[in-house]
Amino acid sequence: MSIPGKQFLPRRTFFAILENIHMEKTIILGGHKIAYTLRKNRQSKHLRLSVSADASVRVSVPIRVSEKMAETFLRAKADWVMDRLADFAKKTSALPPATRADYLKYKELAREIAAKKLQHFNAEYGYTWQKISVRNTKTRWGSCSAAGNLSFSYRIIYLPAHLCDYIVVHELCHLGQFNHSAKFWNLVARAVPDYRKRRREIKKM
Ligand SMILES: [Zn+2]
Repeated sequence: MSIPGKQFLPRRTFFAILENIHMEKTIILGGHKIAYTLRKNRQSKHLRLSVSADASVRVSVPIRVSEKMAETFLRAKADWVMDRLADFAKKTSALPPATRADYLKYKELAREIAAKKLQHFNAEYGYTWQKISVRNTKTRWGSCSAAGNLSFSYRIIYLPAHLCDYIVVHELCHLGQFNHSAKFWNLVARAVPDYRKRRREIKKM
């Protein structure tokens, strides 16, 4: 993101009177107080945002960008920041360990749940899918193939209903948009308006 703007002083004078600035600040994002470092750099031409594994958030901006603009930029990227922080804060899973025996025991139950939820939410979309399969996947909750086959982890049975709904709606909407574009997320939002929140929640599972 670059900020086109006029410089009111000749370039050299402008830079000579301003040193790099480094500020420790806080902002409320998604109901959480987030500490971040704001750096105003003489060399920067763009606004940059980074989240490190130690959960430190850093915004780096050209020197002429105001603190308020930096904050607006950070707010616009709030979801991305919260996702990164959730990733780094991810603890050991709260779900039971995935074993083959567990999978065999619950796979048909998972298929039933997925099929019922697909039917239910498809009243909104009216899509057609091919097969529904259930797999023993640990990190992948669901997928949709180009041929229109939907697949779910048997572990959806352990999810709270609102998260299971989100997984089903997500894969269902890939039948309409085979990507993660804005159009795709608009589709998801029709059945799950708070999908952003649920997405963050599921990443912590
Ligand atoms: Zn997807």
